[in-house]
Amino acid sequence: MDHEEREMILEIFPGTPPELLPIGEILYYRDEEGRVIIQEKGPPELRLTLEPLPGTLGSPQVCEACHRHLSGSALGFFRHPVGGRETHLRYLVLCLDTAACASHAEPERLREILLRGILT
Ligand SMILES: [Zn+2]
Repeated sequence: MDHEEREMILEIFPGTPPELLPIGEILYYRDEEGRVIIQEKGPPELRLTLEPLPGTLGSPQVCEACHRHLSGSALGFFRHPVGGRETHLRYLVLCLDTAACASHAEPERLREILLRGILT
C-alpha cells in the first residue's frame, strides 16, 4: 500500500524529496563483510551503508537505532558519509547484533538515520 502511495505521489509530483514520502518498507541488516545496510524500498529505493570500525566500546552505551542501553561488548562503532560526501563522516554506536536491534528499532528512527546519510 505504501509502495503504491509513493508511486502515485511521484507520478503527480516528480522530484518530491524522499523525506516527504510515506515511509516505505525498511530493511536493516549486515552484509557478508559486516557492514550495516539500512534500505528503504522504493520508489525511489534509498540505501545507506555503514562501515564498522575496529575495536569495542569499553563502557555501556545506548544504541542509536533501538535506543537500548547495552554493555560495550554488545555494541560497535559504525560510520557513514553524510549527504553522500566521503569527507564528512558521521559516527554511530549500534548493536553488533543487527537482527536483535531491528526487532527493537522503530522504522521511523532507522529512516531518520538513513536520510541523514543521503540527503544533502
Ligand atoms: Zn540497537
